[in-house]
Amino acid sequence: MKPEEKPKVAFFDFAGCEGDQLQIANLEEKILDLLNIVEVVSFREVMTEHSDDYDVAFIEGSITDTHNEERLKEIRENADVLVAIGACATIGGINSIRNVQDFEKVQDRVYGDERDHYEAWEKAKPAKAVVDVDYEVHGCPIDRDEFLHVVQSLVMGREPHIPDHPVCVECKLNENVCAFERDEFCVGPVTRAGCDSCCVNEGTICWGCRGMIDNPNEDAHEEVLEEYGLTAEEVMNKFDLYFAWQKEVRKDE
Ligand code: SF4
Ligand code: SF4
Ligand code: SF4
Repeated sequence: MKPEEKPKVAFFDFAGCEGDQLQIANLEEKILDLLNIVEVVSFREVMTEHSDDYDVAFIEGSITDTHNEERLKEIRENADVLVAIGACATIGGINSIRNVQDFEKVQDRVYGDERDHYEAWEKAKPAKAVVDVDYEVHGCPIDRDEFLHVVQSLVMGREPHIPDHPVCVECKLNENVCAFERDEFCVGPVTRAGCDSCCVNEGTICWGCRGMIDNPNEDAHEEVLEEYGLTAEEVMNKFDLYFAWQKEVRKDE
């Protein structure tokens, strides 16, 4: 790529609901901020053209079978930079609930009598379990501004700022009543901030969609956990909605 050229970018989806691509398609007036710095050559949600000549590949969805694996490896070969977008691609996401369930029952529920016709892995994986990933945009779905920040950073060759402290920090700043006070359970103490604790602000809990912080044992929001007599490990073990793959990787380390 010549220095004056915009990087060519392509979007690819694997097992997921396409909600992250929808967030990008709905950038509205900020779409110009994106198009000023990159050239989109493939984006199934918004255009019919497709090109395999791209510099940056955005990957949405988790990897759940051999076909996915081979396709992702090809994309990795083609791209200079690979970015995982959304919880399914960054941490296995909702699909990884099956990682902690009886696989035969999961297959029966999804495919019924047709189960032998489909190849499916027992465990859903994020992109980084299969290939090297250069950048990640967290969330389910992703936040549009954070996506733009990551793209701007990669175009400028800078490290994007991605928080590595728990959601509790943002939640306290927002002066929310803690979910534990409401007799509910919340994984905010071990979940990566960056969403402005939006779910708790709306009166619910944090479900962990941005994935665990890098060192949940050491860095979890001790004040909250101590107050309720909990440890980071106990909080993580209560939730498999988003953490199933990450928990397993931590166990093997
Ligand atoms: S991370 Fe969430 S929004 Fe994105 S594909 Fe997965 S389920 Fe859909
Ligand atoms: S545990 Fe949940 S509700 Fe309580 S402070 Fe942390 S993020 Fe907020
Ligand atoms: S509060 Fe938790 S579940 Fe909600 S967006 Fe933030 S990280 Fe995701």
